[in-house]
Amino acid sequence: MKNISDLNFKTLFENAHIGIIIHAWDTSIVYANPTALNLLRLSYEQAIGKDAFDAQWCFIDEAGKILMVDDYPVNKVKRTRERLSNEVLGVIDSSCEDITWFMVNAYYEGNETDDKFIVVTFSDISDSKQSFSFEEVVENTQDIVVITEASHIKYPAGPKIVYVNKAFEKLTGYSKEEVIGETPRILQGELTSKKGRSRISKALENKECITEILLNYDVNGRPYWIEMNIVPLRNKYAEVTHFAAIERDVSSSKFQSEQLEKRNQDLKALKNNLEKLVQARTAELQTAKSKLEKIAYFDPLTNIPNRRFFTIQTHKLVSGCARRGGTVVFGLLDIDDFKAINDTHGHDEGDAVLVSLAKVLTENFRSDDVYCRFGGEEFAFAVVVDDEAGAIVVAEKLIKAIRKLDCIASSGEKIKVRASLGINTFNVVKDFDLDEKIKQADIAMYQAKQSGKDRYCVYEGES
Ligand code: GH3
Ligand code: MG
Ligand code: MG
Repeated sequence: MKNISDLNFKTLFENAHIGIIIHAWDTSIVYANPTALNLLRLSYEQAIGKDAFDAQWCFIDEAGKILMVDDYPVNKVKRTRERLSNEVLGVIDSSCEDITWFMVNAYYEGNETDDKFIVVTFSDISDSKQSFSFEEVVENTQDIVVITEASHIKYPAGPKIVYVNKAFEKLTGYSKEEVIGETPRILQGELTSKKGRSRISKALENKECITEILLNYDVNGRPYWIEMNIVPLRNKYAEVTHFAAIERDVSSSKFQSEQLEKRNQDLKALKNNLEKLVQARTAELQTAKSKLEKIAYFDPLTNIPNRRFFTIQTHKLVSGCARRGGTVVFGLLDIDDFKAINDTHGHDEGDAVLVSLAKVLTENFRSDDVYCRFGGEEFAFAVVVDDEAGAIVVAEKLIKAIRKLDCIASSGEKIKVRASLGINTFNVVKDFDLDEKIKQADIAMYQAKQSGKDRYCVYEGES
C-alpha cells in the first residue's frame, strides 16, 4: 500500500475507540461503528434507519437542561451548517435513567448538489465529568477561603489574591472586587504577631503547609482572631502555582481561653498573696507566742527563768536522770541582809543587785543546768552531779563567785553582796517530790543563815 487513499477507512472506523455515527441528510443513521453501538447500548439493527427524532433519544446540556430536538448535534449541524466541536452532552438512557456524558463533535460532508452526510463522533467522558462543582462548595462554605499566587510573595505587595469566597467577604467586609489583586497583608495590623507573620512568610518561601493563629482586621478596623491552614496548590507538573488559605474566625474561643488564662493568673496571684499573708501571720504568731512564753516563763527584772519554768525544767531534768540513773543537787540561795541593801541604797540599787546576781548564775551554770529567780531575793538551781563531792564543788564555786560580785551604786559606793545557800543532794528515784526537796534545801539554807551567813550548808536529813 503506497497511497493513503488505499487505506480501508471502514476498517479504521470499525476499530476506532471513538463512537462514529454517520447520518443521511434526513438524519437517519446509515452507519454506526461498534464503539458507537456499545456506547449507546444499541445493536446494529436497532441503530440503522433510526433518525434523530426518535423518541428513545434524550439529550441534556451540561447544566442538566433537556435539549430541544432542533439542538440535537445532528440537527444543529443540519440547521446551522456549522461544525460542532467539543460539545459536552448527556444522554439519558430511557431504560435505566442513567446519564452518560459524551464529548461530541459533528460536521457534514458533501456539497449543495451531492448527497450530504452528517458525521458525529463522540467519546464517553462520564468518568471525568463531576456531578457537582467543588467551586460551589468552596464558594459557599462557612470557612474562609483565600487563594493567592505562589509567585511574588515578598513584602509588601505579594502574594496576590486571585480568589476569595463569600465567607471571606462576610467576615472582612471587603468585596471580591476590592481584594482581588491585593495582598492578604491588608488584613494585618499593628497587633498582628510579627513572629506569626514571619513563620507564614517562611512557609510560603519553602512552599510548605502551615497552621497559624493570627490577629486580623476587617475593613472597619475591627480586630478578630483567625486560625488558618495554608496549603500549597500544585499544577499537573507538580509545580506550586498557588496557595490556598482555609481560615476560621476563632475570636470567641480565643477570648474565652484568654479570660480563663487571666482568671488562672488572678487565682495564682491570690494564692501567692494568701501564702505570704499566712507566712506573715505565722511569723507574727510565733513572735507573739515567744513573747508570751517570755512573759510566762522569764523573770522580767533579771531576764532569767522564773519559778514556773524552773519547776517544769527541773521535772524534765529529774526524769531524764531517772532513766539513766544519777545524782542531782538542788540548791536554794538567799541574798544576805538584802533588806539593808534596799534601805541603804534604795530599791533601784537593790534591783540592780538582783540583776547582777542573776548574771553570776548565768555565767556559772551550763546550758543543761536549771536555775531561776525563785522569788524576792531568792534563787534556786538544780544540777546533775556525779556524787556528793560534785555538789560541794558547785556550792563552793557559787559562794566564791558571789563574793567577787562587787556592785557599785550610782552614788559610787560599793555594795557588798553575799548570800547563803542550802543544798540538797539526792539520788533520783521515780517518785520524786520537788516540794519536799525545796523544803529540805530551805532547812539547809536556814542553817547557813544561822551559822553566820555567806556560806553553804548541806541538808543532812531529818535528824
Ligand atoms: P536575810 O539575810 O536573813 O535574808 O535578811 P534579808 O534582809 O535579806 O531578808 P528579808 O526577808 O528580811 O528581806 C528581804 C527583802 O528583799 C525585803 C524586800 O523588800 C526585798 N525585796 C524582795 N523583792 C525585791 C525586789 O524585787 N527588789 C528589791 N529591791 N527588793 C526586793
Ligand atoms: Mg529571803
Ligand atoms: Mg535574804
